[in-house]
Amino acid sequence: MPELPEVQAHCERLTEQFAGHVLQRFVPFNFTALKTAVPRPDEAYGLPLLDVTRRGKYLLLRFETVTFVVHLMQGGRLLVDDKQSAKPRNGQARFVFADGPALLLTEAGKERRAGVWCIRTADGIDAPPLDRLGPEALSFDVTSLAASFVAHNMRLHGFLRDQHHIAGLGRMLANEVCHRARLSPFAMTGKLGREGAAEVLDAIRAAVDDGLTYERTRTDMSSSADRPGAVHGRAGEACPVCGDTVRSVSYSGYTVAYCPTCQTGGKVLADNTTSKFLK
Ligand SMILES: [Zn+2]
Repeated sequence: MPELPEVQAHCERLTEQFAGHVLQRFVPFNFTALKTAVPRPDEAYGLPLLDVTRRGKYLLLRFETVTFVVHLMQGGRLLVDDKQSAKPRNGQARFVFADGPALLLTEAGKERRAGVWCIRTADGIDAPPLDRLGPEALSFDVTSLAASFVAHNMRLHGFLRDQHHIAGLGRMLANEVCHRARLSPFAMTGKLGREGAAEVLDAIRAAVDDGLTYERTRTDMSSSADRPGAVHGRAGEACPVCGDTVRSVSYSGYTVAYCPTCQTGGKVLADNTTSKFLK
């Protein structure tokens, strides 16, 4: 799933290429693509795109009247569409502009969870679905992160992935942030204190910075295997910091990856889903 750096860099690319282009039509290809009935997309027809910005992992295509809120979920992409074919592969919705290429929302797979919400630009970005998001990952300071840790005592990895608590991070950055902070992904946030919050905050900023630097060198959005990282998707490989073997714990929707030497005092975390097969 694209996370903060990938979405941010994509917004920057789209603003550069599409700002000022006049929207002609918004075309959903199926009934799940547009998630809202009001305001209507046609309220933005004939208006130039102001810019493409971001809130959490959502892209915001802003017009004076209406803002289109796009979530890519797991396999979604918002692609420059030169061909505008009648039945685009994996096509969910298309933004047709008066001049130049269109923008095509695609989603690989059958889940059909990516989609578009229309909100009134004048309402700001507190309308659903954005109203449930926690503060932006980069907006925290040590005091506010420490306070949020106390208010939401849970595993650090789960906290970092929870968009209600902190917006923009996902499975990959949660793994990388825990590794950079040298903290167990299972550390309880309520016990981290101010010192732990400071370490996590430094790790968030460094991981996002590295991701952004990489992503801004690209002309399209990366997949997670391409992104810079030390532990995510690298179970069995050597930790680039200490040389220990990167381990993982698998859950139904995601995998926690970590380095025992760097993060857990050498302890291998219990893996409830696979340990019975390893006996
Ligand atoms: Zn290590």
